[in-house]
Amino acid sequence: MIIILNESVTEEQIRHVAAKVEQLGLQPSISRGTYRTVIGVIGDETQLQSAPLAAIPGVAEVVPVMAPYKLASRTAHPKPTVVEVGRVKIGGGHLGMIAGPCAVENLQRMEAIAAAVRKSGANIFRGGAFKPRTSPYSFQGLGEEGLKILRDVGQKFGMPVVTEVVDPRQVDLVCQYADMLQLGARNMQNFALLTEVGRTNKPVLLKRGMSATIQDWLMSVEYVLSQGNSNVVLCERGIKGFDPATRNCFDVAAIPQVHKLSHLPVIVDPSHATGRPELIPACALAGVAAGADGVHIEVHDKPEEAMSDGPQALLPAQYGDLMDQLRKVAAAVGKQMS
Ligand code: PEP
Ligand code: MN
Repeated sequence: MIIILNESVTEEQIRHVAAKVEQLGLQPSISRGTYRTVIGVIGDETQLQSAPLAAIPGVAEVVPVMAPYKLASRTAHPKPTVVEVGRVKIGGGHLGMIAGPCAVENLQRMEAIAAAVRKSGANIFRGGAFKPRTSPYSFQGLGEEGLKILRDVGQKFGMPVVTEVVDPRQVDLVCQYADMLQLGARNMQNFALLTEVGRTNKPVLLKRGMSATIQDWLMSVEYVLSQGNSNVVLCERGIKGFDPATRNCFDVAAIPQVHKLSHLPVIVDPSHATGRPELIPACALAGVAAGADGVHIEVHDKPEEAMSDGPQALLPAQYGDLMDQLRKVAAAVGKQMS
């Protein structure tokens, strides 16, 4: 950490800042330039993270050198982490291909969609049993009944399943049925929920909040990792933009940026990012070309009857065509689908 002092800082203020650093167990190193004095801090910077150094008179700016997300950072763990969901690997050259409807609706529909996406090469099946909806009057999901259907269909078609958990009190219940726990965009900063999933040993799919910076997102990951669960996959699902032409703004640059900052896998969700079936294939392909470790797509056999997110669902045949294209891009960038 570097503490930059004001131009008008007094000798007494410099001594006070240095003494404060020593009190916190670190070593200050004062450098006096022609115009400005800076204090370099030597030692474990995490000790200073919650100290309000910028509030000390004479301090102009405090510049951290280390990332505040210690466990999620590349510095802490230079090799890419591979997360295993059942027998499916995500990260380190392995692509997680997650597909399924937005919500679990009924057994027959789930079986039809699972059979189709499995045939096209999906390796993880999805469906929400607890749906976080913008309106309290919208379909909220089938709850435990939906979890049972999802688990049974996943087993029947040999795919591990991922489903969203929206409340810390439901974590134990969802863990009984799911192979991976999804934390949605609306809950990216639900710290009680992040802590609770961090206490489980289930892989976690952490979506980016709609207005979250990459640093906010990685700090949320840190909540999970700091509880002992290191199996986190990040998911870029679009952030709020100003243009209603797309549902959200697909931030493809987030993929290489997260890879630069963190060792954790990051996948793309072009369904929620664009909200429009005709835009999904291009964004899915761009995501894999940019280094994504997987693709998360909503698929429905009758979008007009879907209980949730019907307008953005791909038909099974469209998903099959996209998977054919994705395989080519995956081969070009040296990735495989397990
Ligand atoms: C979903 O996956 O259906 C969902 C609600 O996603 P998000 O949290 O990205 O909106
Ligand atoms: Mn959805």
